[in-house]
Amino acid sequence: MSKSSCRFCGNPLTHSFADLGMSPLANSFLSSEQLRNMERFYPLHAYVCSTCYPVQLEELEAPEHIFSDYAYFTPKWQLTVFP
Ligand SMILES: [Zn+2]
Repeated sequence: MSKSSCRFCGNPLTHSFADLGMSPLANSFLSSEQLRNMERFYPLHAYVCSTCYPVQLEELEAPEHIFSDYAYFTPKWQLTVFP
């Protein structure tokens, strides 16, 4: 059972949606110095809120640790102006 609460309504997350085991952070490549150390894995277990129904992961890592050196960027849309 999760110890987290819904990010939208605060209800405790008790209903498992999909448990995909343990996984390292996506798109977080290791430096050559980090290859000698253990890589940190996180539970990839999604829960559904029984009150407002969004599917969400438990918050286990601070966003600044996930997105500070993020390797994937979405392509930028180019605005095309027709005369
Ligand atoms: Zn909720």
